[in-house]
Amino acid sequence: MNVYIEPIGKLINQFTKLPGVGAKTAQRYAYKIINMTEEEAAEFAESVINAKKKVRYCKICGNFTDMEVCEICSVRDTSLICVVKEPKDVLAMEKAHEFKGVYHVLHGTISPMDGIGPNDIRIKELLSRVSAGGVNEVIMATNPDVEGEATAMYISSLLKPLGIKVSRLAHGIPMGSELEYADEVTISRALLDRKEI
Ligand SMILES: [Zn+2]
Repeated sequence: MNVYIEPIGKLINQFTKLPGVGAKTAQRYAYKIINMTEEEAAEFAESVINAKKKVRYCKICGNFTDMEVCEICSVRDTSLICVVKEPKDVLAMEKAHEFKGVYHVLHGTISPMDGIGPNDIRIKELLSRVSAGGVNEVIMATNPDVEGEATAMYISSLLKPLGIKVSRLAHGIPMGSELEYADEVTISRALLDRKEI
């Protein structure tokens, strides 16, 4: 027999779908919502639906946006493209306030073990951006782990024949770690000390 009445059980079940939320935290969240006023609860629910409805991928860089083309792509230096694995990596780079160019979000890295090949991530989109002209340098800012390194090398091998300078973030970022967890100073330094590959 379920210890929760059905509506609460269902709510708890939804919260356990979130990363890092275990059964106890989910229960706390659910009770918090039950204790909200009806307006507060409605606002909470609407934010979920609204975010899902309005947020999409920028058609140029693949980052999250609520417009067709994101703000970064609209106003920044498009001759410099920084390639990252995921949208949260754009946030990490932006927090460092050092990079003035635009991004390209791959939505993954090449990982044969997980069956992810070059065609499963946004590499052809990057190639068509570069082929369209006006790009001077592509900075590979994929994570300094095996997949991130392999992806950087693979993309570099495709871009170099096009006469594009390809660089890699310097190894201020510890090997095997994720860009997301690097502090702002480390990211700024890694960007400034980037090496051509
Ligand atoms: Zn964009």
